[in-house]
Amino acid sequence: MNASRRIAVVGGGVGGLAAAIRLRSAGHDVTIFERNARVGGKLSTYTRDGFTFDIGPSLLTLPHVFDDVFRLAGTALAEQVDLVRLDPQFRYFWRDGATLTVHDDNDATAAAFEAFRPGAGSAWRAFDAHGGEIWKVAQRTFFAGPMTGPLTVLRRMNSPRDLLRIDALRTLNDAARETFDDDHLRQWVGRYATYSGSSPRHVPATMACIPHVEAEYGCWYPMGGLGTLRDAFERVAIELGVEVRTSTEVVDVAADARSVSGIQLADGEIVDADIVIANVDAEHLYADLLPDDRALRRVRRADRSTSGFVLCVGARGTTPGIGHHNVWFSDDYYQEFRALDAGQLADDPTIYGCVSAVTDQSQAPDGDENWFLLVNTPPDVDVDTERYRDVVLARLAEHGVDLRERMTFAARMAPADIERLYRSPGGAIYGTSSNGMRAAFARPANRGARAGLYLVGGSSHPGGGLPLVATSAAIVAEMIDQDFA
Ligand SMILES: Cc1cc2nc3c(=O)[nH]c(=O)nc-3n(C[C@H](O)[C@H](O)[C@H](O)COP(=O)(O)OP(=O)(O)OC[C@H]3O[C@@H](n4cnc5c(N)ncnc54)[C@H](O)[C@@H]3O)c2cc1C
Repeated sequence: MNASRRIAVVGGGVGGLAAAIRLRSAGHDVTIFERNARVGGKLSTYTRDGFTFDIGPSLLTLPHVFDDVFRLAGTALAEQVDLVRLDPQFRYFWRDGATLTVHDDNDATAAAFEAFRPGAGSAWRAFDAHGGEIWKVAQRTFFAGPMTGPLTVLRRMNSPRDLLRIDALRTLNDAARETFDDDHLRQWVGRYATYSGSSPRHVPATMACIPHVEAEYGCWYPMGGLGTLRDAFERVAIELGVEVRTSTEVVDVAADARSVSGIQLADGEIVDADIVIANVDAEHLYADLLPDDRALRRVRRADRSTSGFVLCVGARGTTPGIGHHNVWFSDDYYQEFRALDAGQLADDPTIYGCVSAVTDQSQAPDGDENWFLLVNTPPDVDVDTERYRDVVLARLAEHGVDLRERMTFAARMAPADIERLYRSPGGAIYGTSSNGMRAAFARPANRGARAGLYLVGGSSHPGGGLPLVATSAAIVAEMIDQDFA
């Protein structure tokens, strides 16, 4: 084992927690400093009147990425949370009455596509196989380590054919048009852009690997809600000997021109450290904690991801025909994303609805439903939350699901709230977007602007979403292992 180092992790999001567990298991002396009263960051919950809502991530994919972290600590994900593999995975609805159910079974999903439109079953199978090829290459190139530019990825490729396999030269919209001859199914493809807070008009078709990942590795739910995953991370970190200091804001990363030497807390306390891991947004890091114009300019080259408008609705009774995860599509996806790309709210938004009480009645009073509704918004946008709540609920009613009569409350969360709660500039949900061919290389690197400084989390490589931030923790732990060997 390398010599033990003092490591300060700034921010207790999932990336910070995963990095802390990895580094503590490697024998380092690790402390997490989190400004909120609880760790978890965007993985957060809201409870009211017997209803519980996951108000950040509601869908868990690639659980083995988290299992890897727990195993380093001598336990396993399955020992810590009660995971359920969801089937069906998603239900999709359109206003013209069309519906599609995607199952946790490829034959059933292909049959559902075929029933939706003749020929779509085989188109889906081909699209899924294509996504599988992309995923294979992405795993051994993009996700396999730190990113310092296009050459990093090229060097990890087996042959020039890998370049074509990742399908980065066309947009996801193009892929949708070339795969399906039905606008509904093209919308289904396009929605995967939103998994990285991006736009189907601009994101590379590489994102086609995400539906494959869901089909292959499943859509998961931990009983008791995603909050149980946060609790497990915290519990395992503490049992391992990570010190977790909540309600503790970091105001400064101490450094000279070459290397970091610690951090300063809001109450003036100075904590010495050999290594600082910033799990905060890279913009917050280089604007406020370690002001550095050059690094900040580089960070700002990467586009922010979309933000979101959230409604948590406590609803009496149950809704026929819905699933755990549901999407009610807008009539015109292209116009919707044109508005979002132009920094405006969509008048006719696509609505994602997670009703985890469908799987887990502990999340709502008996016979009732916890509706978490999420609508994409641009980052930084001002939202008249009462007006937009009415727009969203009216659109949903037009789809045949009128919650207005049944709701006991509808708590709202706008981009400004997301920014305030997690210090996420513009309320960006995923940190940086994947829009454009260069996005993968424009994201802030995991190695920081000073020796001993590392970046983990959604705004840095490889991007946002729970499995990706946990991957960034793995990449950084390995870098530290090599840097301090
Ligand atoms: C509404 C919503 C829905 C989402 N849905 C999904 C989903 O279904 N599936 C999925 O995989 N992902 C989803 N995501 C994305 C996912 O939640 C994030 O990518 C991930 O949780 C980000 O983790 P992180 O490690 O980057 O840290 P963050 O969660 O961003 O945490 C950073 C932490 O740093 C703390 N901090 C900031 N500044 C300071 C400071 N100066 N001092 C001390 N602490 C500080 C913050 O308080 C915060 O706790 C969603 C996110 C949101 C908001």
